[in-house]
Amino acid sequence: MPLHKEASAFVTTPVLTFLTRFLPDVTTLALEAWHVDDAATQLTLHVTSTQACVSCPCCHVQTPRVHSRYTRSLADLPWGAYHVRLQLRVRKFFCDNPACPRQIFTERLSTVAAPWARRTTRLSQLLNAFGIALGGEAGARLVARVGLRTSPPTLLRLIRAAPVPDASTPLVLGVDEWAWRRGQRYGTILVNLEDHRVLDLLPERSAESVASWLAQHPTVLVVCRDRSALYAEGIRRGAPQAVQVVDRFHLVKNLREAVEAFLHNQRAALQVAAACTAQALTLVAGPGPVTAMYRGRRQCSHVEQQRREVEQQQRHAAWVTTYEAIHTLHAQGTPVATIVQQLGISRPTVYAYLRRATPPSPRSPQRSGQVLRPYMSYLIRRWREGSTDSMQLWRELRALGYGHSARTVSRFLTRLRRASEAGWAPETQTSSYTRPQGPSARAVSFTWVCPAAKRAPDAQMYVDQLTQGDPTIAQAYTLSQAFLTLVRERRGDALEAWMTEAAASGIEALARFAQGLQEDLAAVKAGLTLPWSNGPVEGHVNRLKLLKRQGYGRADVGLLRQRVIQAA
Ligand SMILES: [Zn+2]
Repeated sequence: MPLHKEASAFVTTPVLTFLTRFLPDVTTLALEAWHVDDAATQLTLHVTSTQACVSCPCCHVQTPRVHSRYTRSLADLPWGAYHVRLQLRVRKFFCDNPACPRQIFTERLSTVAAPWARRTTRLSQLLNAFGIALGGEAGARLVARVGLRTSPPTLLRLIRAAPVPDASTPLVLGVDEWAWRRGQRYGTILVNLEDHRVLDLLPERSAESVASWLAQHPTVLVVCRDRSALYAEGIRRGAPQAVQVVDRFHLVKNLREAVEAFLHNQRAALQVAAACTAQALTLVAGPGPVTAMYRGRRQCSHVEQQRREVEQQQRHAAWVTTYEAIHTLHAQGTPVATIVQQLGISRPTVYAYLRRATPPSPRSPQRSGQVLRPYMSYLIRRWREGSTDSMQLWRELRALGYGHSARTVSRFLTRLRRASEAGWAPETQTSSYTRPQGPSARAVSFTWVCPAAKRAPDAQMYVDQLTQGDPTIAQAYTLSQAFLTLVRERRGDALEAWMTEAAASGIEALARFAQGLQEDLAAVKAGLTLPWSNGPVEGHVNRLKLLKRQGYGRADVGLLRQRVIQAA
């Protein structure tokens, strides 16, 4: 019946007809009565099943004979602040099939709820989605905000019980490790590289577990992996039919490590290039004004200076001790995993130390640049305008939102003053490529393998200075760029020619890298030819780190596996 001339869409309907629309499945359920408890903010719906034909879950023969009725109570999706509960009258039936072992059975309502569930299927699915996305604790908190009642353990139970999607029949597989506990315990992640979905999470990183998983999935034709002999062995045993492909990301990573090892022995050249970069930057920007520095009342005392030096020496001594311990253990044939446990350091650290031919050199204390970085260009502009009072500049920065100490500002101004006195542009002080001791070999190696188009201007300037200053470095640079071109353009056909050149170059780190490629030649060549890469796997490994953190260290492999596989 129309309420109003203009709003003819509004109608008054009997309440039962209206509420029926919100039942989980109107084709099998009928609403008979409803009750609201305002004190408990609860809406209770009395519902009966209207299924005409019911078949036995055991023999699937249909039967009309009702044995009895009973009531199930199911929680359903809430309506605003009101919890909704279904009081569901269901029937028990006789199975009249004489061949069936069941005599009496309860009717199934597959679209409404699982046989023994206390919640409707749609409520379980919603809770499960919260759990998959957020984990137990955060999931339960957000669930409470939308008016649902649950607890973290309940959410976790739902995640564990949820059915895992069919593991399909993958053709192209990506395999990689993931850190269950960094440096101590690693697992294996398996990703379908065609649809980028996680297929499985194995609790260990071993040839056996990969081999047995592959044996159960004989459809796999291509497996993309890192450089580890462990996975190579596992794949060979579990899927001898599959083509092994070395992931290009890992090839570039190995090249960068070789470059870093090479640069460790070029300390002097790295330092000279830093000074040349500062000069080149000064030519571009022009030298700054030479100004007498306003000296604040607080100066770094002699005692303070000494304390810092002692600290630095202690830190350096610890590095040397670690270096010697690792090399000694390694020379004795101790496996890396054992070294990790004995010394309590991470696996990547052990490898980094093993790549070095000499102990790390002492480093001067870290520059305190990070908090100031967004304000450096402002300070340089003011400096060029003749403002040298650090307290004044600190007040100006505070007005711009800087929340750190005046001392950090004053230290940066000291650097600007020293640079000016040396005839360098103040701009040189914003770059890590111009510091007096030079950038670290590690930092330069990252710039070195980064595509030239993506390098910052000062980084490019530094690479130019470094390669112009030394023919051996120039040769190493040309060789590694040639390899990167093979990777980017997927020129597997030119790989062996490159390896011959690297082996004959006299650059030990690159020759060793080429030797490593030789040992895994077929898979490396496939990596430089086929389109597959483990990019999607890396994405999932990063997401795993997030999931682990959400579990506050309490999540186990079973739970992580469910969350990572079910999250679409
Ligand atoms: Zn039956």
